[in-house]
Amino acid sequence: MNSKRTWPETPEPIWQDDHHIDTHPSLTESISTDVVIVGGGMTGITTAYLLSKAGKKVVLLEANRLLNGTTGHTTAKITTQHDLIYDELLNHFGAEKAKHYYDANNQALQFIRETIDELSIQCSFTEEDAYLYATTDHYARKLTNEMNAYHKLGIHGEFQNDLPIDLSIKGAILMSNQAHFNPVAYLSALVNKVKEQQGQIFEHTVAIDVEKGLNPIVVTKSGAKISCQTVIACTHFPFYDGNALYFSRMYAERSYVIAAKTKQSYPGGMYLSADMPKRSLRSYQKNGESLVLFGGESHKAGQGHQVTNHYQALKFFGEEIFGLSQVVNRWSAQDLFTLDKLPYIGRVTKNEPNILIATGFHKWGMTNGTAAALLFRDYLLNKDTPYYDLFSPSRFHADPSIKTFLMQNANVASEFIKGKLSFTKEISDLAKNEAGIVRVNGRKAGAYKDSKGDLHVVDTTCTHLYCEVNWNDDDRTWDCPCHGSRFSIDGEVLEGPADQPLTNLKDDLD
Ligand SMILES: Cc1cc2nc3c(=O)[nH]c(=O)nc-3n(C[C@H](O)[C@H](O)[C@H](O)COP(=O)(O)OP(=O)(O)OC[C@H]3O[C@@H](n4cnc5c(N)ncnc54)[C@H](O)[C@@H]3O)c2cc1C
Repeated sequence: MNSKRTWPETPEPIWQDDHHIDTHPSLTESISTDVVIVGGGMTGITTAYLLSKAGKKVVLLEANRLLNGTTGHTTAKITTQHDLIYDELLNHFGAEKAKHYYDANNQALQFIRETIDELSIQCSFTEEDAYLYATTDHYARKLTNEMNAYHKLGIHGEFQNDLPIDLSIKGAILMSNQAHFNPVAYLSALVNKVKEQQGQIFEHTVAIDVEKGLNPIVVTKSGAKISCQTVIACTHFPFYDGNALYFSRMYAERSYVIAAKTKQSYPGGMYLSADMPKRSLRSYQKNGESLVLFGGESHKAGQGHQVTNHYQALKFFGEEIFGLSQVVNRWSAQDLFTLDKLPYIGRVTKNEPNILIATGFHKWGMTNGTAAALLFRDYLLNKDTPYYDLFSPSRFHADPSIKTFLMQNANVASEFIKGKLSFTKEISDLAKNEAGIVRVNGRKAGAYKDSKGDLHVVDTTCTHLYCEVNWNDDDRTWDCPCHGSRFSIDGEVLEGPADQPLTNLKDDLD
């Protein structure tokens, strides 16, 4: 990237910049192992590390390159301060479960800290104070309830009237001894340990199905199969859902990050607004230079409209507090939310003890993903923990699940109808680097004209549940507004729940 530019032309996260990640072969022949872990992000790599350390024979599969999913696009705060959550958990699940959620995440933070120490990992791990702040009276009242929940649950926190940064607030909760790091540096070190511990890693290997049984078999796109004792899907959206309809019980939220050099120095700390629009801040040292990461602007995936506006809003926010001299990187990504805010970690369905999933980390996957890996280790080593029940994907809690379920599915229905009615354009009117909804042989299609003038044309009906995908003008992807699937300009699946590509209509052009 040209350091003289004040705005990065293409989205690119900061974490890979100074880190080399080894490449791995793809799987070309059928093999067998103890455990197949699918998905090379925070959850899958930590699970592979823990299980290979415990003496299990593991195979880790990744559809693309390791650490290219949400983990490679995170902001990497490692904290148990997960926005406003403890008051809600206390009210809906009771004190015991709310405390278990805190404990599971706190143990995860502690595990990351100890692992970095034990393996001497150079990953810019930095202890920080975390602040959750409110700028309106409405959210200040919510913060007071949250503070009361901390007291009831024995969580350490202090109410503050001011922040170390220059923001006018109505109150904040300080949680000390939290942290941030470079997740790619941390996980690259765990990848090396997995290999030292005889684990096998395959990239560009897409798992497409599981043949159930005492010894389940993971089927890959190339036809190679892996038989094993346990399958663990750490694929963000589960690649195999056992007909448990996870798409109707989760939704994807996308958000944006800019990394910038600031004119005023950053006083330290990590910050998150309780109120909307969401704002998240942390610092990062890149090649000796101090950067501030500004995150936020969340919206339901596929419903973001003008992407550049989201980045501009973050830039404006940064300008106001610190003055920005250069935006060095910018990127966006999405994470999955369950209806009751607790992740799904455990058996994909009640009746399948050897097919496990971990998903729905609601933007707190550094600790929740690690907690999932620790749970999987305990499960495979037959150790008891209170977290099996807490995170069980088969749980059903009437409130707030039902209300959120109805709201979520009403939104899906409205997007479904909207998409069917959307605007069409003449293919000949498209400029270079422009996309539009066009007609090809009387059929609705999405066309993108690339910088060379070549056309890429796909059927815009999502292969998952037939909503119409929207164009994302920044990432140059087709994004589904209903369940968050994403597709490349030629229709390949980039993110599920869809597992089939959009139909490529290039050959249908006259
Ligand atoms: C903008 C943003 C900021 C965030 N900030 C924070 C933060 O500060 N702190 C925090 O705790 N959390 C944060 N999160 C959340 C956190 O980053 C995620 O929850 C976490 O990275 C998810 O990790 P994962 O391993 O479950 O998924 P991923 O990292 O997405 O890994 C899943 C992998 O599975 C692969 N895969 C998918 N399907 C298949 C298949 N069929 N076969 C093979 N491989 C497959 C994918 O290619 C991918 O590499 C943030 C999220 C976002 C979007």
